[in-house]
Amino acid sequence: MPETMRAARYHGPGDSLRLEEVPIPEPGPGETLVRVKAAGICHTELHFLSGVLNLGVAPLTLGHEMAGEVARVGPGVETVQPGERVVVYYYVGCGTCHWCRTGQENLCEALVAEYGFVSDGGLAEYVKVPARNLVKLPAGLSYEAAATLGCSATTAIHAAGLAGLRPGDVALVYGFGGVGAALVQYCRVAGARVLAVGRSPAKLQLARDLGAEATIDASKEDVPARVHELTSGRGADVIFELVGTAESMPKAVASLRKRGRLVFIGYSRDLLTVSPIQLVVLEAQVMGSVGNTLDELTRAVELAAAGAIGPAFDRVVPLEDVNHVLDDLRQGNVVGRAVVRP
Ligand SMILES: [Zn+2]
Ligand SMILES: [Zn+2]
Repeated sequence: MPETMRAARYHGPGDSLRLEEVPIPEPGPGETLVRVKAAGICHTELHFLSGVLNLGVAPLTLGHEMAGEVARVGPGVETVQPGERVVVYYYVGCGTCHWCRTGQENLCEALVAEYGFVSDGGLAEYVKVPARNLVKLPAGLSYEAAATLGCSATTAIHAAGLAGLRPGDVALVYGFGGVGAALVQYCRVAGARVLAVGRSPAKLQLARDLGAEATIDASKEDVPARVHELTSGRGADVIFELVGTAESMPKAVASLRKRGRLVFIGYSRDLLTVSPIQLVVLEAQVMGSVGNTLDELTRAVELAAAGAIGPAFDRVVPLEDVNHVLDDLRQGNVVGRAVVRP
């Protein structure tokens, strides 16, 4: 086995990722070394590069959506073996705080690791993670499809759960990237009616192909007016805000139904400005949704295995192309998820 590997490394905001040769980590007790076969590129990567998200850890290998094959296991690992196909759960909680004890590691008060955020992630040939962070893949699921479950699909499942999405609800997916593609599909699985907002014909077409009953082009149409038109004047029960800009936020608020829930998943440097009366008269709720739980990743794998959530990836590229893909993502030219094969 070689001693070094290639990794796409983050060196702080304002720089692009650098392809570097770094040591292959050694799995310790309870840990595994996974040969990454596919890693999704999330909008979060752009937030790191712009500095909107700055966790102060650099240099760092980004990438929190990854699937691969177990290459080696450390002492005491009995749940997985070399050669098994897996997708990685990217949080390692402290295990003792209230959130960890209730299975909500995404809110852990003292994270031990978070791959691709504060710990070396999947935009590399190998990643070292505890055995308990691996979810085994069924034979029919490709690595590329599995990688996109790691953040996109699990984040969608988590947000829909927080929002209390019910069958028959109208869900508005505001912004159509990787998480949006998963949300459209998951909301359909959950029995909701789905409307999607985007800005490019290709993305809106994909949203319809994945099950959105109608799409709204935010660059041409009046979003709140269209939402009310499509819902007999009522508005959307749940709005998943995946954009979070000064342009999108007021339109999302104005599209809410009475008792509607506005869930922020996307963000920018812009501020949410809302008059309390807008929320008061609707008895509306505004909430945030961050990441996902290990249980939700297991659920995502089950849904994908059953064909209920399909992959929506735009392209599969070698690690060398990562900066090019990030440029395309920034410009809105990635339809669904782009996947890297390190
Ligand atoms: Zn992500
Ligand atoms: Zn914890």
